[in-house]
Amino acid sequence: MSEILKGIGASDGVAIAPVYSLEEPDLSFDDKSIEVGQEDAEVEKFKAAFNQSKVEITKIRNHAEQTVGPEHAAIFDAHLLVLDDPEFLGPIESHIRNDQKSAPQALLETRDQFVAIFDSMDDEYMKERAADIKDVSKRALANMLGRELPSPSKIDTPVVIVAEDLTPSDTAQLDKNFVKGFVTNVGGRTSHSAIMSRSLEIPAVVGTKNITELAQVGGDIIVDGSSGEVILNPSEEEVLVYKDKEARVAEEKVELQKLVDEPSKTMDDVTVELAANIGTPDDLEGVKSNGAEAIGLYRTEFLYMGRNELPTEEEQYEAYSQVLKEMDGKPVVVRTLDIGGDKELPYLDLPNEMNPFLGFRAIRMTLDNQELFRTQLRALLRASQHGNLKIMFPMIATIDEFNRAKALLIEEKDKLVEEGEKVKEDIEVGIMIEIPSAAIIADQFAEVVDFFSIGTNDLIQYTMAADRMNESVSYLYQPYHPALLRLIKMVIDAAHKEGKWAGMCGEMAGDAHAIPLLLGLGLDEFSMSASSVLKARKQISGLKKTDMERLAARAVECKDTDEVLALVEEYVGRV
Ligand code: PEP
Ligand code: MG
Repeated sequence: MSEILKGIGASDGVAIAPVYSLEEPDLSFDDKSIEVGQEDAEVEKFKAAFNQSKVEITKIRNHAEQTVGPEHAAIFDAHLLVLDDPEFLGPIESHIRNDQKSAPQALLETRDQFVAIFDSMDDEYMKERAADIKDVSKRALANMLGRELPSPSKIDTPVVIVAEDLTPSDTAQLDKNFVKGFVTNVGGRTSHSAIMSRSLEIPAVVGTKNITELAQVGGDIIVDGSSGEVILNPSEEEVLVYKDKEARVAEEKVELQKLVDEPSKTMDDVTVELAANIGTPDDLEGVKSNGAEAIGLYRTEFLYMGRNELPTEEEQYEAYSQVLKEMDGKPVVVRTLDIGGDKELPYLDLPNEMNPFLGFRAIRMTLDNQELFRTQLRALLRASQHGNLKIMFPMIATIDEFNRAKALLIEEKDKLVEEGEKVKEDIEVGIMIEIPSAAIIADQFAEVVDFFSIGTNDLIQYTMAADRMNESVSYLYQPYHPALLRLIKMVIDAAHKEGKWAGMCGEMAGDAHAIPLLLGLGLDEFSMSASSVLKARKQISGLKKTDMERLAARAVECKDTDEVLALVEEYVGRV
């Protein structure tokens, strides 16, 4: 019997494939000592597990190099070094031979000794080695116990991934040739796994609450990323219905492709800019194939993830230059590091917080870690000569934060110029508006910044006090609520009054219900998942700006979301 679940549709499209679970197996074991005389056999067991781990890691490494690039693959080289390190292997063998420990027990004791030593050192590099040892030991332990660890980059047959959640580094390892879709227990449309699924164009449903309990590994599953429906063990009829839907989605894609080189214009000839959000240079392919006119948000944090140490100035320079060059003079808005919230960097040792979304993240962290911040600013400034760079600071709450960040940028620019480096003049410097305080004083910000980009993913959660990751309060996560529309209007009006432009890079910018409202409110730039650009272009070409202005003027006077949505339907029909 099939079973139907409903979650939140995170990335459009249909996928039908067997379930692959990312749940980790139970790695507990009986820790009793070995008998005298069993030492050789136990040492053999330990060596065999290490050899098997080497084979697995090498495979993962090579695969990651091809699919996500050498910078993401480098982490696995460090893991291979640990597996060959006599300093690490010696004590394991000695625990087995001299203390009668079983291979798993000897491994864990040695691991704990090393981790304790490295962790206690006040040196980032050494702390990272502790993380490597933990990671490698987990794999070796699983092999000793004959249990298999999940590994997204190892997948080489078509599957749908089922998991509690996917970390951004899990998502960065996915190869969409094989990962046909994914379904998670937690998350909402704007959680990072959802955003990544859209940039990879993998159908996804998030926030199903209990998919991991219900799905059976290897059993078939259907994922409908548009409706949020998931069907476990589908019947033949259900498979046929969804195959049909899959074919229609593919046809619609072909139709939309015809708009790839068209301008983004309303019926009454008003042009807006349709831009794409990216996480890595690998996403550029989607930007081009979907005809985006700019990059409205380059989330640089992915450069810092899935690795063991901070990216160097040179590595960052390469990545930014590649994006600027490939965009060939089209605008590229690069956001400085926005870590914290649901985006962690294990090697940075950030504090564990009660409310990470309200905590030490983004500009708050980078202003406090100047060396890290200055490295990024220098890389950006040096890359500026290769294209049309605009720099944007995330999570700005006060004008003082902006002034401090901008002062560091100017200091680094002056230093570079003194060193004889080429830096472009007049780089636009703007801020994300994602904290209500910044929206409320947007008129004052407009005097000092060059542009605004409204980050509704966060602005909604802070305005409604509803965690964007928490399905229990997702009913409050209302993009069309008049409270939010009023804030957006304040921001756009404030920008225009000072002759500046206002964009939006939150997911709302690509939402078909929101686009008529945003057009009417006067938004200049809409930045979205690349896969939404052509749909948005088609929709905008059927709207009149003057009508949308009337719609927006009435919408901000509505009392609730339902009233706003009814009004949208009255003006543009069913979306
Ligand atoms: C936002 O908050 O709307 C945004 C674009 O930033 P992120 O989703 O990366 O927090
Ligand atoms: Mg944000």
